[in-house]
Order: sequence, then structure tokens, then C-alpha cells
Amino acid sequence: MSIKMDQAQILGWLREANPDRLQELWRRADETRRAQVGDAVHLRGLVEISNFCSRQCAYCGLRIGNSNLTRYRMEADEILEAAQQAMKFGYGTVVLQAGEDYGITARWLAEVVRRIKSETPLAVTLSLGERLDKELAAWRAAGADRYLLRFETSDRNLFDEIHPPTGNRKCDRIAILRRLRDLGYEVGSGIMVGIPGQTYASVAKDIALFREMDLDMIGIGPFIPHPATPLGSGMQFFPSVNGEQVPNHELMVYKAIALTRLVRPDANIPATTALATINKKNGRELGLQRGANVFMPNLTPLKYRRLYEIYPNKACITETGDACNGCLGLRIHSIGRNIGSGPGGRRERPAVAELESGKECCHA
Ligand code: SAH
Repeated sequence: MSIKMDQAQILGWLREANPDRLQELWRRADETRRAQVGDAVHLRGLVEISNFCSRQCAYCGLRIGNSNLTRYRMEADEILEAAQQAMKFGYGTVVLQAGEDYGITARWLAEVVRRIKSETPLAVTLSLGERLDKELAAWRAAGADRYLLRFETSDRNLFDEIHPPTGNRKCDRIAILRRLRDLGYEVGSGIMVGIPGQTYASVAKDIALFREMDLDMIGIGPFIPHPATPLGSGMQFFPSVNGEQVPNHELMVYKAIALTRLVRPDANIPATTALATINKKNGRELGLQRGANVFMPNLTPLKYRRLYEIYPNKACITETGDACNGCLGLRIHSIGRNIGSGPGGRRERPAVAELESGKECCHA
């Protein structure tokens, strides 16, 4: 199998049902993962810093229209404490994620980022939605290293249906991703698999787009219906896609992860919490064995964690950071992998051209 797979071949694999053939896909993805990024599993401590959101996304439980949710925004000191915990556990990165919360101002967050960067050796990843250029630039200037913004689906019509714009500002996540790259961020994106109205062909296109965009990080998880959202309550219907609807099943997520590893061999690919949510027993391990190389243990203080309900029954909703940390270590070792050290950024790796030209490689 060539990693230069075209969209038609990707589509063929997404439809593949033969278990023997799929074993072959898992094997190739796992081999590629080992050859390109090694056996280390990088841990990114996830801190869900606010569940306020100004958007009306039809899939997400944080949407402003969900009036049954108690809202919180963490204090700067609480965020610093969580970052210290990440450092204590030996993680290389802290990820600050939130709804699109304009109560998180450019200046306030820049100060939080500056404090984390001066008090810890952590890489700082932000995942705060579609913020203004000047805000993204201010946070980068404050020291933020990476930004995650999933494009969710490359099907423009579907995206517009499930992700209504605010006012007359048009959402173009692909343009924001480009802008982030220009600002010097390492850039992550990704999709949900099994969104109502999402076709096999559009997921094949998403995966081809991962390759084209040269993304550093790619997160893929199943769509999980939330009853307090239009998509989860059945209030929003989609025209039949003539048997082309992609299921939001575990198997489909593994296929998408494995194919993504093949088309973007050196990307950082997490075994996501959403995947762990639909298979709490060993979804994470299977993700790691079918292409993934990153875990995002949850460091959100327990009192807030159940309130960051983007979808119901999230994995690890009641474990403390300590418990999560211990459990993940066991899981990683149980499949013969080891825990990565340092920030684990893709851009830190030597460029292929450098390796080929025989230059010395400090990571060897
Ligand atoms: N406000 C930020 C962070 C959102 S939560 C942003 O929009 O980027 C991070 C990710 O969770 C989203 O990008 C989406 O892919 C995923 N998510 C949201 N609702 C979900 C659901 N119901 N099922 C599965 N994943 C969901």
C-alpha cells in the first residue's frame, strides 16, 4: 500500500468490511507509526478552562442555546496549578481548551500563557475556537506554541448546517488554520466521524485534506449525540444521503485514524477521549495500535470536569488527575509502548531533507 493513496483508494478502505484486509490496514498503520514517530506515547495534559460559548454548534453540548448547563471559567491561578500538575506528572504539554468564550480576553490569556511559559518548561497548546487574528497573534507572542482547531468536516454545506456563523462573520476554519501556521504555531485540526449527513466520500476528502494541509496534529473522534443539541435530539434532520451515511462507530474511527497515519506519516495523532468514551475498555489502546501516538489525560479540576459536557458520558469524568495519570501509564505499558518525554512537537523533529543529507541528528 502506498502512502500516496488517492482519494478513491482512501474511500475503498473506508468501505472495507473484510476483517483480514482490515488487519492489513492496522498493521501498515502501526508499522508506519513506529517507523516515523517511534514507540513513545506523548501525553498532553488537557485543561478545560471554560465552558462558556457564544456559538450555536448543532453538535456540541456547550452551545449557548443549552441553558441547562452551569457555566464556569477557571481562574488564572487554577490554570497555573493544573499546569504545575502536568509538569509534576512529567507531561511535556498543557492544552488549554474552552468554548468560544469572549470572556477569555486576549490580554488575560496572554498573561496566563506567559506565566505558564515562565514557571514551567511546558509547551502550551490552545484550543479556543475561531478567535480574531490579533488575539491569535497576541497569544503566540506570549509564547503559545500550538493551536488546535478542527475543521470537523470538509463538506462545506454540512459544516454550515451544523456550525452556524455568528452575525455576518463567515466561518472559514481552513483560512484560520493557514493564518495560525503563518503566525508560527504548530497547527492541529481534525474531524468528527459519523456526523448526521456526512458521507463516506466526504470523510475520504477530509483525509486527503489532512495530507494537503501538512498538519502537525490530527484529532479524530466519533460524533456522539448530545440530547441538548439539535443533532442529538433529532430536531435537526438531514436529507437522506442515499445509504452513504458514515456510521459513528468505533471501527470507522479506527479506519480514519489508520488512513490518516498513512497519508500523514509523521503527524501527532491522539487516541481521543471521544474514542475512549464509546469503548471505555480499550478504545484508547486500539487507537494507539492502529496509528495514534498521543494521549490527552484530563487535568481539569474535578469540580468543573462534569460541566465540560461537549457530549454525554465522557470517559474519565470522575478520576482525579492522579488517577488518570496512573491508569494511562498502565495502559501504555500494557501494549508495549513507553511514555514520551519533552514537548513532543512535530516541528522539533529534523526535516526529512536534513536526515537524508546525512546531517547529524540530535534525536538519534
Ligand atoms: N470551542 C473549541 C473547542 C471545542 S471542543 C472549538 O470549537 O474548536 C473540541 C472538539 O470536540 C470539537 O472540535 C469537536 O470536534 C468535538 N466535539 C464537540 N461536540 C462533539 C460531539 N457531540 N461528539 C463528538 N465530538 C464532539
